[in-house]
This record gives sequence, C-alpha cells and structure tokens, in this order.
Amino acid sequence: MRNTDFYLAQEKMICDQIVHRGIFDNRVLHAIRSVPRHLFVPEEYQNSAYNDCPLPIGFGQTISQPFIVAYMVSLLQIKLNAKVLEIGTGCGYQTAILAHLASTIVSLEIIPGLAKSAEQTIRGLKLENIRIIIGDGSLGWPNEAPFDSILMSAAAPRVPKPLLAQLADGGRLILPVGDRGFQHIEIWHRIGSNFSKIEGIPVAFVPLRGKYGCKEV
Ligand code: SAH
Repeated sequence: MRNTDFYLAQEKMICDQIVHRGIFDNRVLHAIRSVPRHLFVPEEYQNSAYNDCPLPIGFGQTISQPFIVAYMVSLLQIKLNAKVLEIGTGCGYQTAILAHLASTIVSLEIIPGLAKSAEQTIRGLKLENIRIIIGDGSLGWPNEAPFDSILMSAAAPRVPKPLLAQLADGGRLILPVGDRGFQHIEIWHRIGSNFSKIEGIPVAFVPLRGKYGCKEV
C-alpha cells in the first residue's frame, strides 16, 4: 500500500471501529490519528495494520485490536501534564498514542527484543517524552511513583498490589484481569486512601509474566 492508502485505511479504522463503537473523546481520536499503526507491525502484516483485529508482533505476543487501545486509553482520562506508567510496551503503538496525550510516559517491557524494536520505531517518530525500560512491570516502577495513570496491556490473575500503591491521588489504573484467554477490563480509581473498582468489557489479552503475573508463563 502507498502512504495515502495507509492514511485512508486509518481514517476508516477510526470511523468504523472506534467512533461507531462509542469512543468520542477528541483528544484520544487525535492522538490515534497522529500515530501510523502500520510502522509498528512486522512488514508482512503492514497491509492488515488497520484491520479490526490484533496482529502478531513476534516473541508470541500481539499488538492489541485498535478499538481495545482506544477504549483503554479513553478510560484513563489523561490530563496533559500527566505522568503515565504503561506495562507491556510490546511494539510501542499504544505507547506512542499515550505520548500524544500526556507529558511523560514510562513503559516497561519484559522481552528485551520487543523493547528494542519499539524503541527504534518510537525514535523514528521523534517522540521524546517516552522512556522504555526492560523489566518486570508487575512490580510497577517505584523509583518514579506516583503515576497519574497506569495502563497494563497483559492479563493478570488479579490486580497487582504494587500498581495500586503507585497510583497518585485521583489517578486511574486500567488493566485486564482474569483467566488465561478470558478476562474483563478493570478500572481502578484512587481517592486518597480509598480505591474503587468498576468492571469494563470482556477481553482476551496475552498473559502477564513476572512476580504478580500468571504462574504458568
Ligand atoms: N500494547 C502492546 C501490547 C503487547 S502484548 C501493543 O499493542 O503492542 C503485551 C506485552 O506485555 C508483551 O509485549 C509482553 O512481553 C509484555 N509483558 C508481559 N508480562 C510483562 C511484565 N511482567 N512486565 C512487562 N511487560 C510484560
């Protein structure tokens, strides 16, 4: 496909998959429009980059379906001056979208090969407010806590306690929680020392590894 075809495919994706399913937040839609998704997927999948599905990104991992990225990012209600923690950089697509919405993004990825290629793609796009760190994101990143928003894109058996502890007052944590292959999105909101939880839509994410991850991975 040529660049104009990618651009048209992206507009169609935003209209058919995201706006038609109820995501109307203009800042989020603008951020999605600013990130060329085809640059984040392996070359053999570039022509499918704007399709309504997840795609393989190597190492047995996947880039999330575009709607799921839009849904989770819009639930965070990110403010311009926010400090965001992302767990599961993967190919870096969602990381790049977050960079258009907040002032600082710290993104943790446990597979070094994915972290490296995400870093390259992101540098190519000249996004300067992202730091990708190789490590176990189930522990969060206490050095720079608290975070206004925390977004996890791998499925945990239950919410990792360190992530709740690293949430700023008024902050939100969005993550998939459940069994292997079937989970629900959980939306956590902190007010002072009070944590409330709402359940979102059913999803199917790859399992979280690490200390608070799924035991069998
Ligand atoms: N948002 C990413 C999703 C990638 S899939 C994208 O759209 O590309 C989930 C990612 O979480 C994988 O890259 C996987 O390696 C990573 N992951 C799993 N467990 C992790 C952990 N404990 N710490 C950091 N990253 C983890």
